[in-house]
Amino acid sequence: MKQSVEQLVRPEILAIGAYHVADATGLIKLDAMENPYRLPAELNAELAATLAEVAINRYPDPSGGGVKEALRAAYAIPDAAEVLLGNGSDELITLITQALARPGAKLMALEPSFVMYRMNALLSGLEYVGVPLTADFAIDLPATLAAIDAHRPAVLFIAYPNNPTGNRYPRETVEALIEAAPGLVVVDEAYQAFADDSFMSDAGRRDNLLVMRTLSKIGLAGIRLGYAATSPAWARELDKVRPPYNVNVLTQAVARFALEHRAVFDEQAAILRAERARLAEALAARPGFTVFPSEANFVTVRVPDAPALFAGLKAAGILIKNLHGAHPLLSHCLRFTVGSPAENDAVLAALAQLS
Ligand code: PMP
Repeated sequence: MKQSVEQLVRPEILAIGAYHVADATGLIKLDAMENPYRLPAELNAELAATLAEVAINRYPDPSGGGVKEALRAAYAIPDAAEVLLGNGSDELITLITQALARPGAKLMALEPSFVMYRMNALLSGLEYVGVPLTADFAIDLPATLAAIDAHRPAVLFIAYPNNPTGNRYPRETVEALIEAAPGLVVVDEAYQAFADDSFMSDAGRRDNLLVMRTLSKIGLAGIRLGYAATSPAWARELDKVRPPYNVNVLTQAVARFALEHRAVFDEQAAILRAERARLAEALAARPGFTVFPSEANFVTVRVPDAPALFAGLKAAGILIKNLHGAHPLLSHCLRFTVGSPAENDAVLAALAQLS
């Protein structure tokens, strides 16, 4: 007798839905923290010529050595740290959880935060421990220290700045958690290009620290490249979990090209920071809106009726993220990715009609 899919697949997988990506066809897409800008035309042409030279008949450089060197040079990764590449930082989260999934091991994250921490705990069979932030999305240090003490997690994930709230915690608070944690601490700096602080200079210098970043938010979401900087001991073990050739030749070539032309991305990030300030100020001026401080390329806002406003914006051709219902602390919250000036103007014009 054959067994059914339901009999074979793990019950915890049967119980969940697949990662949902909203259909953005025909809409101004401000739901996924993408950079709205494409490469300038002349650079795009240069990139096309570079890609034409790539040997797609060959497997990629398995260690991505050229990309790692370019990342080190561009982002001042300390010599003491080793670099690990992933197919997006999503894959790095998976590698970390797979390596740590001993029976009984726990993954801790602050809540609300990036949903893939919890998802990967479930997929790898780690016990998930969520420690709530305060109502204004700060770390509750005594409660978090007590939870670390009680659970002794194998890994603690801290998004710095945090998604979906946008805030960056005080550095000293994160340092206290790194000091206290018995296991690995992942400081996830996906939004570093829009933030005023980083733990990168500590990578390789603190034994239990892994600093994770991505090229996704600066304008390269399509190529899927995440990178981590950590001690040689952690890098050696995580590298064993990494599938061979996880970063394809096209991604490696685009990443190297982009890092050579980093100034273009830095200029775009500077525009987006300025637009973030403008958007936040205009949103704060709307009746009943509470805007939370952001060091990321999005702004999270509490509004009087989030589902209604989300639907109204969608009807007006704008897709944002409705956070209402995702976590009790996010009630009536909406997340606006910072778009181009014209896109942000469209948001503000639509809101003027709706609220
Ligand atoms: N970390 C955080 C905090 C994120 O918000 C995201 C994307 N939303 C990621 C990691 C994953 O990014 P990627 O896989 O595109 O590198």
